[in-house]
Amino acid sequence: MIYDQVIIGGGLSGLAAGIRLARFGYKVLILEKHSIPGGLNSYYYRQGRLLETGLHAMTNFAPPSLKAAPLNRLFRQLKLSRKNFTTHQQLRSTIYFPDKLSLSFSNDLNLLFAEVDRLFPESTERFKALVEQIRNHDPFVSRPWTSAKGKLAEILVNERLMNMLLWPLMMYGNCNEHDMDFDQFVIMFQSVFLEGFFRPAGTIKDFLDMLLEHYRALGGEIRFRTPVARFETSGNTVSSVILESGEEIGAKQVISTAGYPATLKFMDQSNSNASEMDKFKGRMSFVEIINVLPVSCRQKLRCDETIIFYNLDEPFDYRRPDEAVNVNCGVICFPENFHDLPAGDEFQLRVTHPANYDLRDSFEPDEYQAQKTLWAARSAETIREIIGNYQENVLYQDVFTPITIEKFTGKAKGAIYGSPIKLRDGLTSLSNLFVAGTDQGYLGIVGAMLSGVTMVNNHIFEER
Ligand SMILES: Cc1cc2nc3c(=O)[nH]c(=O)nc-3n(C[C@H](O)[C@H](O)[C@H](O)COP(=O)(O)OP(=O)(O)OC[C@H]3O[C@@H](n4cnc5c(N)ncnc54)[C@H](O)[C@@H]3O)c2cc1C
Repeated sequence: MIYDQVIIGGGLSGLAAGIRLARFGYKVLILEKHSIPGGLNSYYYRQGRLLETGLHAMTNFAPPSLKAAPLNRLFRQLKLSRKNFTTHQQLRSTIYFPDKLSLSFSNDLNLLFAEVDRLFPESTERFKALVEQIRNHDPFVSRPWTSAKGKLAEILVNERLMNMLLWPLMMYGNCNEHDMDFDQFVIMFQSVFLEGFFRPAGTIKDFLDMLLEHYRALGGEIRFRTPVARFETSGNTVSSVILESGEEIGAKQVISTAGYPATLKFMDQSNSNASEMDKFKGRMSFVEIINVLPVSCRQKLRCDETIIFYNLDEPFDYRRPDEAVNVNCGVICFPENFHDLPAGDEFQLRVTHPANYDLRDSFEPDEYQAQKTLWAARSAETIREIIGNYQENVLYQDVFTPITIEKFTGKAKGAIYGSPIKLRDGLTSLSNLFVAGTDQGYLGIVGAMLSGVTMVNNHIFEER
């Protein structure tokens, strides 16, 4: 059997690419190594609770009436009803820096303007100029890497304001340490500050089920527990995809969402040039501590915001920590804090910190669990000064690490945001193989889906 399109990975970019292709009658097969879809953004069950692995918030909020907004364009391209897709907008989020400096924002940009004016009155006009520049900047034009810090220093002048704006955008979408590509900064600024955070109704499972059902109804096929091992090539094309089981699947074209390092391995180009390959391995990874708390302890905590992006380190730097985890900075998320979400008996507090993958070799395997417990306690101790003490109220706690991320998604070194070098055009050295998802350059849930759709539009439909 020869498929028109084989897609490697049933994460959000793979599902979106699959739907787009199936919608236009292509014979498509998605190959996913795990037993459920979603990749980085999935779910699992513990003690009867469904726990989500990635969903703090979706970015790029837009009401259905804004037809040209990325979210609504995405729904149209996938032939999904935006009107039937219920969204819950964030309440309000805060960027928290040393000396309790707090800058809040919501999906209404006026709040951010007012907050900048309150804290940095000398920068009000400069910040407006930055927003104007971002609105007029097309980040998808191919250009060399440009330092966001350099650009911001020219426009904003005030370093503290610059770092406070960078922090959430780096935590939610920067694969580089220390600085960020200005185009990536613009993409993230638009999706977080200009458009904003929301959650769909229900859980990520409901969202994934909806996508999967739609894909199958359009004739798309998906196989779970089907890891891809390598490609068979002929000239400069992929002729078939070989599974770890040895099975061979014929493909006219292939889209890989497994990340560029993994894709190079499928092409058998990883061993021949190991140092070349290292360039594509990201260094930024994270731990996430999921705490389930009884609703009765809400009144003693600061828990009325959606997300708190905090940094207590001076000087500010976004980098892989020297120790296993840096609890001095991170993201505190209350995933129930969105408008009109029904309240339950329990609520979640999710805390994310930068983590160092390479230190895994310094622990004995039987120390791994103890390390998780140790860092979860240090995290709680540190963020106590921001939100209060919740430790004795925890009903259930789970910690996932860079090792978990690598194990369940195949992302080398647990690098959520993938390679520091992005293949923005999605092209590879093989003429019928394209890269979509994280290593193509769009990040986050909506970003990954847009990437899948864009790669199909640009390479598969263009060709036809
Ligand atoms: C802790 C955490 C929190 C996050 N929070 C948010 C958030 O709040 N909001 C947001 O928008 N985004 C968030 N993200 C990011 C978001 O999840 C990702 O950007 C997005 O899901 C990436 O999708 P993708 O399809 O590009 O990649 P992936 O999700 O990595 O999909 C790739 C798929 O390929 C499969 N695969 C890999 N190798 C093989 C192989 N050899 N054979 C077959 N299949 C293979 C993997 O199993 C995986 O399913 C978060 C991520 C994490 C980890």
